Amino acid sequence: MTADPIPAATVPITAEGRFFDGLSALPHPVTVQLTDRFRVSGSALHRDWDPRDLRATVSVPPLMRVGPAGESSGVEFSDDTLSAALAARCPNLHRRDDPGGTVRLVFWSIAAGLAVLLVAVFGMPRIAGLLVPLVPDAAESRLGAMAEPQFLRILGDPGSCTAPAGREVLDGLVARLVAAAGPGGSLPPDLSVSVRRHGMANAFALPGGRVIVLSGLITRARTPDEVAAIVAHELGHVRGRDPTRSLIRASGTSFLLSLVLGDLTGSTIIVGLGNALLSAGYSRDTERAADAFAVDVMARAGGNGAALADILERIAGDEKGGLSEALAILRSHPLTRERAAAIRAQAGLAPPGRAILSGDEWTALRGLCASETPAPR
Ligand SMILES: [Zn+2]
Repeated sequence: MTADPIPAATVPITAEGRFFDGLSALPHPVTVQLTDRFRVSGSALHRDWDPRDLRATVSVPPLMRVGPAGESSGVEFSDDTLSAALAARCPNLHRRDDPGGTVRLVFWSIAAGLAVLLVAVFGMPRIAGLLVPLVPDAAESRLGAMAEPQFLRILGDPGSCTAPAGREVLDGLVARLVAAAGPGGSLPPDLSVSVRRHGMANAFALPGGRVIVLSGLITRARTPDEVAAIVAHELGHVRGRDPTRSLIRASGTSFLLSLVLGDLTGSTIIVGLGNALLSAGYSRDTERAADAFAVDVMARAGGNGAALADILERIAGDEKGGLSEALAILRSHPLTRERAAAIRAQAGLAPPGRAILSGDEWTALRGLCASETPAPR
């Protein structure tokens, strides 16, 4: 396979992407540019790679992840023009450096053994944190697609709420929150926020950018800002890839093994996904980070971030009345007095009367689950 090398003087191709340093969990928003070199630049971040050294570790159109051969850092982008140009200009892009496959198998067998050992020595939480950046977006999407039905089954397969006027308001609200997060918000492009008809006041983030809001939350909310703030908080978990980290942590070494054996669609880890998501609470630091993200995004979207503390405290009051503890929002997002205080301190005083939705929009959103049409499955 020989592609004619395209002259270096060809027009530069630029795209937005996400850089992973291979060590920490957070993606860094970057701009990538392909000329005779492949340059990655973000805030305080510059890489200048020789296209001949690049290998594609993920290539699932439109998503592509490339990095220098032998390095764990890389950059991910969804841009067909750039993918095509890279394929034309990087002769080794799809080269497997171990054509026989034996080396690879031996390597992964050792890696799997090491993984189990590392977990024993360092504990799952730290290993999960290290592993998350190595999980490609495509695998995370698959994980989310597998986890969602299991998760919903545990909730009794609640129908989805689809009243068109309410759906339109919700879509608009999510788009505003995403826009407020900005390109540095690092939210995945295939984000989906759905509402399910369920009495519980709760919301969940699943791997692969899936957010599920239960209608009880909308019923319990007194202002649109309260609903928006909870959605923004879940987006904060999506951004931190927290659901994936928590799944890896909860499913332990079997996840590691499936991951290294490329068996994400296999049977090893499938069974416990839904339960793991429901039972795994987030750490205090994780909650704090999602709260800070939510309050910031709410302010930029024209809403009141303090509403997050308001609704969480109201639900906390309700839950003393004896709602099923296993499904309680505070189990997955533990609330402490310090947490509520931190939210309010960051939010400051919102101007009186400021609301993220108009009165009509709020009415439409509250009617999202009122539709008589049976929920699609
Ligand atoms: Zn949370």
